[in-house]
Amino acid sequence: YFVKEIINSNKFTIDETETFKHVAKVMRHKAGDVVYLVDPSEKLYAATIEKIDLDNNNILTKVSLVDRPSTEMPVKVTIACSLSKKDKIEWITQKSTELGATTIIFFDSKYSIMKWKQNVVAKKLDRLQEIAKNAAQQSKRRIIPQVIYVNKLQDLLNYKVEANLVAYEESAKQGEISLLAQTLNQDPKSVLCAFGPEGGFAPDEIDFLNQADFASVGLGPRIMRAETAPMYFLSVLSYKYEL
Ligand code: SAM
Repeated sequence: YFVKEIINSNKFTIDETETFKHVAKVMRHKAGDVVYLVDPSEKLYAATIEKIDLDNNNILTKVSLVDRPSTEMPVKVTIACSLSKKDKIEWITQKSTELGATTIIFFDSKYSIMKWKQNVVAKKLDRLQEIAKNAAQQSKRRIIPQVIYVNKLQDLLNYKVEANLVAYEESAKQGEISLLAQTLNQDPKSVLCAFGPEGGFAPDEIDFLNQADFASVGLGPRIMRAETAPMYFLSVLSYKYEL
């Protein structure tokens, strides 16, 4: 379970409603059981339940640090994907969390087949954030990736990191596959890659991103579907860091 407070003593009270419900009601844990907690400093703790207080909706635990290697990659990875249908963006959110993404951005582009109206953004992001949380718990991540929406490609520039890339199949055709390897060999601390929709990026969108210092990279000679390309990218990074 992810907890919002830093654990700094050997006692910890689980009082976040959702976690309390899951531990006490869904899993029906009892005193003496052990649950695992990850705090915002990405540390993992074994928490032995001492008392489940049903009157006050909290659980008293005794915690000890678990010295297990982190499941996080040493590079922070942002994937920025063009908006697409609900089931696809949910799939992207779940799978990219399993594969180690730190931040997941969805953006509108010229050939996106979907647009979100401003009044539904918060609700949709809540749902995606919940999917990311569940996937992070299931994959034993130390962080929950943040899910963000930007309605203009220009706004993507607000999220630039150390190495910024755009996956462009035309670069793959021109044999520029090695640019990805070159970028990763410089061991950036953070990397962002933007992925286009099914219809691809419009040439002026690629120009815009290139001018904003996003290097076009090819991801091999086969054209992948919009949701496959980010998974290829994350898998390459996982392979590089053996994580
Ligand atoms: N319109 C393109 C076409 O028909 O040639 C295909 C676009 S592809 C389905 C969707 C997105 O995935 C692209 O915008 C790109 O970001 C990424 N992508 C897929 N395969 C790629 C590859 N081999 N190299 C680089 N990017 C790729």
